[in-house]
Amino acid sequence: MSQVIEEAARRRTFAIISHPDAGKTTLTEKFLLYAGAIQSGGAVKAREDRRSATSDWMEMEQKRGISISSTALNFPYREQELNLLDTPGHRDFSEDTYRVLSAVDAVVMVLDAAKGIEPQTLKLFEVCRSRELPVITFLNKLDRPGLEPLELLDQIEEQIGLRPTPATWPVGSYGDLRGVLDRRTDVFTRFTRTARGSKIAPEEDMAAEQAAAEEGDAWLKCAEESELLDAMGADVDMESFLAGQSTPIFAGSALTNFGVRHLLDAIVDLAPAPLPRDDIDGEPRPLETACSAFVFKVQANMDRNHRDRIAFARICSGKFDRGMVMTCERTGKPFATKYASTVFGAERTTIDEAFPGDVVGLVNATGLNIGDTLYDETGPRVEFPKLPQFAPEVFASARPQDSGKVKQFRKGLDQLGEEGVVQVLRDPDWGEASPVLAAVGQLQFDVFANRLDVEFNAPIELLSSPYQAIRLTDSESATALREKPGVRILQRTDGALVALFENKYALQRIEQNEPELMLDPIIAG
Ligand code: GDP
Repeated sequence: MSQVIEEAARRRTFAIISHPDAGKTTLTEKFLLYAGAIQSGGAVKAREDRRSATSDWMEMEQKRGISISSTALNFPYREQELNLLDTPGHRDFSEDTYRVLSAVDAVVMVLDAAKGIEPQTLKLFEVCRSRELPVITFLNKLDRPGLEPLELLDQIEEQIGLRPTPATWPVGSYGDLRGVLDRRTDVFTRFTRTARGSKIAPEEDMAAEQAAAEEGDAWLKCAEESELLDAMGADVDMESFLAGQSTPIFAGSALTNFGVRHLLDAIVDLAPAPLPRDDIDGEPRPLETACSAFVFKVQANMDRNHRDRIAFARICSGKFDRGMVMTCERTGKPFATKYASTVFGAERTTIDEAFPGDVVGLVNATGLNIGDTLYDETGPRVEFPKLPQFAPEVFASARPQDSGKVKQFRKGLDQLGEEGVVQVLRDPDWGEASPVLAAVGQLQFDVFANRLDVEFNAPIELLSSPYQAIRLTDSESATALREKPGVRILQRTDGALVALFENKYALQRIEQNEPELMLDPIIAG
């Protein structure tokens, strides 16, 4: 077996999705604790503190208590290399999340057991469904009062249409969680809490008879429910899991560490290793073919002391060697990968080699955009599909507060537009005057304004904008659309033409009456 195939088989690249406050950050930290990447809980937050000292816009993120930037964590566990891509939890950042989910092979969906499925869980799950991603579900916060676990299974089945297949099941009622039964092996694991859950929870494994003798009613309830699940045929089923039709369920509490190891083991044992990725024509690129990758995130000025631009690329095939020259498919230009790193919070570690499934942060990535394909020219050329985008729902226009800062303003618009912080739309005939900004959520505008101020020294004024809807169009349709009242044609940073509508109903009428016009919702796939 080739080294690339062997190394790819050792990779698990995944993301955690959840509604804010369900426990994603806590769980991420506990994964690191169980993998031995940190020695005690609390370390991740400490790193975040340091990071905010070097970056003002992350300070804003911290003040608001939300996560804006995505971080790719790499850590070994058992014989595997795990790559955990962080998805921003806030509603406004679904665009960013979508891109991250295009770079993973599986997802852990965290539910707060007291709340069940929440709006953001649903929205994120829809993205997973559209990509047919396998989903492992963690029922979190079972240490405190909440819904009955069986009720949670009903919600999963009814609201998101995944067949729940419990791999582990809680022993102990709310407020008195004792541990979990592994329904696949019939072994009960009893956990003991540690202070604030900052250390690995001591575990004791036992068979049913001993569990029955020691745990009494708590065990009986679990055993009865597990029998019921047996009767329903709710055992973990790999085929339907990998097809995105069923979801293995793990029970526990990220705070107290109960059930965390079972979940982490499942990522190794159940989640798929990287598979050949389809190119734009639907042809899978074999893993052992020369190195290829695609950029799913671009971030500039992460550290104000180094004015830089990092492109996060997921390796799709072949072996990546730092220093190799890759070709950017879109521009045909060579890109020297002299500086490549993995990122752990704000800390960068140089990465010398990487394999399919890994994420590399390419430093000095001017000229690389989100969605770009990179490939090693010693092998065949390849272009991976463009990343899908959500249709913006909110609009604003911007102008510099200080008319002497137009140059900085333009530079910031270009860079932040390319980064995808917001979509920057301009009128080619009007030059730079008051571009229109389009975003999925209002918060994106705040981040945009803050970064223009802090990083480009060009404070802006945000003005309201009269638009209600946006569609992608082409030059022929644009000519016809320009004649219509309440429609404006603008050009996006990437060159695409878009039509903006002051009235949603006017758009609907045009769509109905003139189907020959190109009006694509921007959720391009
Ligand atoms: P995120 O917004 O999804 O990243 O959620 P966090 O990890 O920040 O957790 C939100 C809150 O829930 C914090 O106060 C956590 O301490 C708490 N929390 C997380 N997991 C558990 C759990 O298993 N049990 C309990 N009781 N609280 C938890």
